[in-house]
Amino acid sequence: MEAAAEPGNLAGVRHIILVLSGKGGVGKSTISTELALALRHAGKKVGILDVDLCGPSIPRMLGAQGRAVHQCDRGWAPVFLDREQSISLMSVGFLLEKPDEAVVWRGPKKNALIKQFVSDVAWGELDFLVVDTPPGTSDEHMATVEALRPYKPLGALVVTTPQAVSVGDVRRELTFCRKTGLRVMGVVENMSGFTCPHCAECTSVFSRGGGEELARLAGVPFLGSVPLDPELTRSLEEGHDFIQEFPRSPTFAALS
Ligand code: ADP
Repeated sequence: MEAAAEPGNLAGVRHIILVLSGKGGVGKSTISTELALALRHAGKKVGILDVDLCGPSIPRMLGAQGRAVHQCDRGWAPVFLDREQSISLMSVGFLLEKPDEAVVWRGPKKNALIKQFVSDVAWGELDFLVVDTPPGTSDEHMATVEALRPYKPLGALVVTTPQAVSVGDVRRELTFCRKTGLRVMGVVENMSGFTCPHCAECTSVFSRGGGEELARLAGVPFLGSVPLDPELTRSLEEGHDFIQEFPRSPTFAALS
């Protein structure tokens, strides 16, 4: 089923931002989550659409594992993450019987679910919809871009680490954006240095400046660096209340 040209369930969504990365593990889901939290903190109404079908980590990051999506008269009602209902999430993780279950599907089934995510989630009024995509440039990316095209996504935010391999993968990601006509809003360098909590000295764990150099070569904006934050990893592992704790994170300062 093709997404209708009429905006349907995305009619009330003002801006759509896709978050991409060349490979897994660079912090794409973390940046998607934190971007959404930063926007919420700035008073915006935000939705997160997690189309990383094989590794849906956002429900765990936001302490929403085990929550369920419900059917409403306009499709799936997303999971609201706060009392004010200013941040909501839709993820394949909510559709799996066991949270750690792997999605082992062939391409057409994955693409059908992505289209359904785009057309059947009742987001209501949102200032921003942040779309967390799988790593790389797969069929799922094509399906996502194709399904969102009628809704005119604002563009793509590309996440990299400072290392050369990640930067090489990101170059392919930028080519994908060019070929599919997706505007690159900019590059974010994640895990960019570690500031010692004891002596405040910053160590470049994975070399430095790769993201900025890549942005310069590709002629796209460099949006900034997000440091390695051990507190962030701990919060995620220990299931802290991310929404409450986020403003204390150095990532918040970087993204704000
Ligand atoms: P991806 O979505 O690219 O696969 P994730 O966002 O799942 O990557 O991040 C991979 C791991 O790295 C997670 O355990 C996450 O907590 C950690 N991580 C990501 N960014 C940071 C950061 N800036 N500081 C500390 N840990 C981070």
